[in-house]
Amino acid sequence: MNSAPAQDQPAATGEKRKARWRALHWQIAIALLAAAAFGALLGPQPAFVAACEFVGTLFLNALKMLIVPLILASMISAMLGLGDQGVLGKLGLRTATFFVLTTAVSVLTGLLLVNLVAPGLVDGEAAGAQLGLSADTDDVMGRIEDRGSGDLLAVILRMVPPNLIAAAAQGEMLALIFFGILFGYFASRLPAARAEQQREFWGGLYEIMIAITGWVMRFAPLGVFALVAKTVATTGWSAVGPLMKFFLVVLIGLLIQLLVWLPLILRFVAGVSPLRHLRVTVPALLTAFSTSSSAATLPVSFDCLRRGAGVSPQVSGFVLPLGCTVNMNGTALYECVAAMFIAQAYGLEMSFVTQVLVVALAIVTSVGVAGIPSASLVAIAVILGTIGLPLEGVGLILAVDRVLDMARTAINVYGDTVCAVVVARFEGEDGVLGEPAIARFNRPEAG
Ligand code: ASP
Repeated sequence: MNSAPAQDQPAATGEKRKARWRALHWQIAIALLAAAAFGALLGPQPAFVAACEFVGTLFLNALKMLIVPLILASMISAMLGLGDQGVLGKLGLRTATFFVLTTAVSVLTGLLLVNLVAPGLVDGEAAGAQLGLSADTDDVMGRIEDRGSGDLLAVILRMVPPNLIAAAAQGEMLALIFFGILFGYFASRLPAARAEQQREFWGGLYEIMIAITGWVMRFAPLGVFALVAKTVATTGWSAVGPLMKFFLVVLIGLLIQLLVWLPLILRFVAGVSPLRHLRVTVPALLTAFSTSSSAATLPVSFDCLRRGAGVSPQVSGFVLPLGCTVNMNGTALYECVAAMFIAQAYGLEMSFVTQVLVVALAIVTSVGVAGIPSASLVAIAVILGTIGLPLEGVGLILAVDRVLDMARTAINVYGDTVCAVVVARFEGEDGVLGEPAIARFNRPEAG
């Protein structure tokens, strides 16, 4: 498979972009810290919150506006580049295997931690009463409606849209991916000259979307500041106290996935440097963290893998849109820990078989969770219903959901980028994150 195509930009422009790209990590990180300080200092002052809301929404909209053309262009280009069915089958199988394995590792890590720490128990007793189990059902329902469905059959139905334009308008990513795969596959079977036209067109569209992403990301520090400052200013921290153990269990689990399991896979399965990978994906992780949306982060993930890691458009075009829709390491871990925590708080005895059921449900429902803020609450409600707990249980974790959403979304995106690198290496892309790729990174306008 080829690596990303080289571009012929003047060296001077490249140098300028290089400086900007490198500085972007720092700019976003500083914006994040400043947002935390300003948000805490100013609190929920209406004018401040309104200004942050405006700027943050503008930034989010600019990223979201790229999603539909980007998914179509990347999927179709990837399919056109893959050629025959055998290659597609192999790529699909590798991608799916990796998705399932990493999600399972993530969920099992969460399960182990939640059993060790038992955040839903105080002195061995169910902590439901202390945690205020009488959550308002209306509040819970309000939070989870419009968050998509955790039901796998519904997910399959959503994959085949009766109306493509309506699906695009509603942000049904799976439907776009499915259509993109079909379109690209049949376009690749056209007579050579016409297939080449299609390749040129969709490849060009993809390049344009990546270029616009680069431009939008110049405003990322401002957008990140606004999004995070608003969250800090409006999130009540008083309710976090009793949930601190739960909060920490989720965070530690996510950190283990970020700093132990996925780096081990990068090092020993892909044979690349985890530090280099982290370095080139920082902008995507910080964008995921501030937007709490894997879908909105998709353009940035593309940019990082293409320019930073040197993953080919065929692999990233196939793995990233799928990953940001169905591969959610962080979300699956969160679902498992949350369901176990709520069960502990209600005093429900969780047998080994029930725990295995929770693990399986967390893996399966995370596939159906949309890449938007708070989407996993629906899946948690599905798990609670299956193990016989009332829906109001979700109310227990609402106070900390917003902040944990930021963290788990970053891990979701990180898992996708790791998968793309691993699959690219299996596909024989030797240059990924190697010296030549880093040289390209230092000469950013080369593919
Ligand atoms: N916000 C997450 C994402 O976009 C989904 C979730 O766990 O709620 O990946």
